[in-house]
Amino acid sequence: MPPVRPADGAAPSAWPRRGIATVCLSGTLEDKLGAAAAAGFDGIEVFEPDLIASPWSPAELATRCADLGLSIDLYQPFRDLDSTDPARFAANLRRAERKFDVMGALGVDTVLVCSSVAPDAVADVDQLAEQLSTAAARAELRGLRIAYEALAWGRHVSTWDASWDAVRRADAAALGLCLDSFHVLSRGGDPSGFAAVPGEKVFFLQLADAPQLTMDVLQWSRHHRLFPGQGAFDLPGFLGAVLATGYRGPLSLEVFNDVYRQSDPARTAVDAMRSLQWLEEALALVDPAAGLRPPPAAPELSGWSFTELAVDGVSGPQVGQALTALGFTHTGQHRSKPVQLWEQGAARVLLNASVVRPGAPGEAAVSALGLESSDPGRSAVRAEAMSAPVLPRTRGATEAELSAVAAPDGTEVFFTRTGPDGWPADFLPTGVPPGPGAGLTGIDHVALTQPFDSFDEAALFYRSVLGLEPQQVTELAAPFGLVRTRAVTGPERAVRLTLSASSLRRGGWAPRVAEPQCIAFRTDDVRATAERLRAAGAPLLRLPENYADDLEARFDLPADLLAAVREHGLMYEEDAHGACLHLATEVLGDRLFVMVVQRLGGYDGYGNADAPVRMAAHRRQRRPPAETPVGSARIERTDVS
Ligand code: MG
Repeated sequence: MPPVRPADGAAPSAWPRRGIATVCLSGTLEDKLGAAAAAGFDGIEVFEPDLIASPWSPAELATRCADLGLSIDLYQPFRDLDSTDPARFAANLRRAERKFDVMGALGVDTVLVCSSVAPDAVADVDQLAEQLSTAAARAELRGLRIAYEALAWGRHVSTWDASWDAVRRADAAALGLCLDSFHVLSRGGDPSGFAAVPGEKVFFLQLADAPQLTMDVLQWSRHHRLFPGQGAFDLPGFLGAVLATGYRGPLSLEVFNDVYRQSDPARTAVDAMRSLQWLEEALALVDPAAGLRPPPAAPELSGWSFTELAVDGVSGPQVGQALTALGFTHTGQHRSKPVQLWEQGAARVLLNASVVRPGAPGEAAVSALGLESSDPGRSAVRAEAMSAPVLPRTRGATEAELSAVAAPDGTEVFFTRTGPDGWPADFLPTGVPPGPGAGLTGIDHVALTQPFDSFDEAALFYRSVLGLEPQQVTELAAPFGLVRTRAVTGPERAVRLTLSASSLRRGGWAPRVAEPQCIAFRTDDVRATAERLRAAGAPLLRLPENYADDLEARFDLPADLLAAVREHGLMYEEDAHGACLHLATEVLGDRLFVMVVQRLGGYDGYGNADAPVRMAAHRRQRRPPAETPVGSARIERTDVS
């Protein structure tokens, strides 16, 4: 799609204007306004319940917004306007007049009227148009206007086409449409139909994404809306169709989401802003020719340079021993920091004993990801422009300059170039010659469990800041509850990262390793690798015989492969493109395990089908041999007391 230019005469700096409905953010109006302003929004939609719960008068709210540089773009929602009962309609008009008073004090000229869900809602489109026209005439007398929105669950008007039919028939100057991407796309509406609507009749635009779910549309909307770029809807296509009408009002977000309703509003607002930046970029809305400066495009990420683990005096030696058994060699020592470089082929692991993280003693955790960028400096500039926290670095005079940003879970992401002048020059050789290795050729993917609240934020972070593409969300029935997982991948799958989180916030009964992490290495021959690892004493995870029996039933595998599955604890699964053979180690340093992956054909997954078996095996591995069953332990404690 060609770049969309501002309408003739529009000041370039005034468009696109970015807005957010106060309902998107947690807290009181004070919290919400502060967060929206700090994130750089131009305006807000005032969600009426937020105003009603506020001690501020409408005029005070207007002053507060002006002080923060926020415009008030919409007052919403006005519900159930039309009625088949004349007395009720008259009462609704009286109610509307009172809200027009509020709008006057707020200084906002547009009110959102959503289609009625009431039992007395008007079904006849001409009668509905007449009532909308009557209300619009009242609004026009006050210099106000009505944006009519079809709720996807409206009683008689539930599609945007039906709302446009009513607005068109009403033919009132102060009556137009509010197009809400959720209401349109959740009903399978076709945005190409917007071409029939003159741009001046689109009074307002609300943007929300959502995961593809099959459920009641009201519940879907109320709990699961997401910011653009986080879900499954085609938001660039939707916005492009709206802008093609000539609409040049605010790009305003309206997202009802259970997590965002209770998350730090400052953080949510940054996430929200990033979603609009991503959307604007997808449509090339920010026009450099108009003197505006869009973020530079994300440089291509061509692979992994390293994965860094934060270790301490307990986990460091344990992980080092495991890396040795996995065929790695400790080849380098950092010039100025307690950081070890371990290598095997293009697989590199850093063990960093200086990372300050709130991990438990004895824990080993992924603290940083090193990604090969075609232009590390530009990657950092883009990250900063997309509101990613750029991390300060201390470095010696002769050390390489490394740019790093913090992902939502705190993981540091380094933009690197591996070469003689790049980051490896910061390491002095240990003099230990690399061993023959175990056939590991590089990093296949890294799997990170996300904090419950940042699962969707993380997908958008990697998409918008790094230019990776989120894949479908899948659910695993794991032993300790349902787990959502989603991969983000680079071009040619040179970078693969998987993000997981529990489907529900965890309570007290939780696995001992509640937030596991995994580094998966590639091999071209997992059977040969498994034999070498076994011989070297690598801590390979043992799987139950039931798993191999089930594989034998489901797939017609060669006998020698099945024997290897049983002998080495290999896992096997297929997708539409190929198959995967993989194995896992035991949990190292309380949190981390290693996978070895051999992709066959075009297999594009991550061993998720086998994950529940692996998780159960990890649980068995970590259970102390003499652990007392829960019930007995309780009795024991009672006896003691
Ligand atoms: Mg809406």
